Amino acid sequence: MYEIDYRALGYFVGIFLGGLLRGAIIFIPLERFLPLKREQKVFRSGLLTDIVHFGVNTIVIQYFIVQAVLVASSYWFAKLLSLLAGIGFPYLGISLHFLQNFVSKQHYLVQFFIALVIGDLIFYTYHRAAHNNKYLWKLHAIHHSTVELDWLAAYRFHPVEQMITQSLNAIAISILGLDPSQSLLLGLLSSTADPLAHANTKLRFGPLKWVFINPEFHHWHHSTERQAFNKNFAGRLPVLDLIFGTAYLGPAPATSFGIEDPVPTSYLKQLFYPLMKRQRKVSDEVMVASTESVSSK
Ligand SMILES: [Zn+2]
Ligand SMILES: [Zn+2]
Repeated sequence: MYEIDYRALGYFVGIFLGGLLRGAIIFIPLERFLPLKREQKVFRSGLLTDIVHFGVNTIVIQYFIVQAVLVASSYWFAKLLSLLAGIGFPYLGISLHFLQNFVSKQHYLVQFFIALVIGDLIFYTYHRAAHNNKYLWKLHAIHHSTVELDWLAAYRFHPVEQMITQSLNAIAISILGLDPSQSLLLGLLSSTADPLAHANTKLRFGPLKWVFINPEFHHWHHSTERQAFNKNFAGRLPVLDLIFGTAYLGPAPATSFGIEDPVPTSYLKQLFYPLMKRQRKVSDEVMVASTESVSSK
C-alpha cells in the first residue's frame, strides 16, 4: 500500500512556488519600468497555461524524466562501447576515455565554457531542425504560439520538446566527462537568461547583444515579420547565428509576435496538438522560407 510522501510533495510545491515568486520579483518590475509594450498586462492571455508549463517543465521534466534518461543513456552507452570493443572496435571507447580524462582535468571555469559552447551548439542544431522538420515543428509551434511575450512565455514548451533538449544537454555533459555540477550551473544560468530573453522589456545589451542571449536578439526569433523567419536560433550564444549565417536584427525592435498555426490555448489541448491533423498555416511559409534559404546557400 503506497502512501503520499507529504514532505516530498511539499518540497516540489515549494520549488514551484518559489521559482514563480523569484521570477515575478525579478522580471515584473523590469517589465513595468522598462517595458517594450507598455499596454501589455501582467495578467495577459495564456498566463495560466504558461504557469502550468512552468511547473511541468521545471519540476517534472528537470527532476524526474531528465535524470531517468541520463541514467538509462549512460548505461546503454557503456554497453555499446563494451560491445564495440568486444567485436574488435575498441577505439571509440579508448578515445572517449582520453577525452573525458582531458576534459575532467580542466579548471572549473574552462569546463563551464566547454559546457556552454557544446550545449548551445547542440541546442542550435536541434532548434534549426525544429524549424525545418514538420514533425519537430508541431512540437516547437507551441513555444512560438505566444503573442504576448513576457518572462513566463520562456517556459511555454511542449514537455516532449523540453525533454529532448534537456536530455541532449545532459547526455553531452556526461559523455564529455564534464563535472555533473555543470548541468546545475547551466540550469541556474537558464533560470535567469531564458525569462530575460522573452521579457516584455526594451532593455538592451549594447555590443554584448552578439555575445549573450538578450531580449532584442530573441524577440526577433518570435517575430511575425517574414525577414526574421528562421533566424536567431541560438539559445545562449548569438555568435553561433553570426557564424552560421542565421543572425537577424531589424532596425527597430520587434513588436509583433506569434504564428498563424492553430495552436490551442489550453494546456491539455496543447499537449495533444502535435498529434492533431496538420492545417496549412504560416509554419508552412516558415518551411518554404527555410527551404529557399537553404537552397540559396
Ligand atoms: Zn524557434
Ligand atoms: Zn523563445
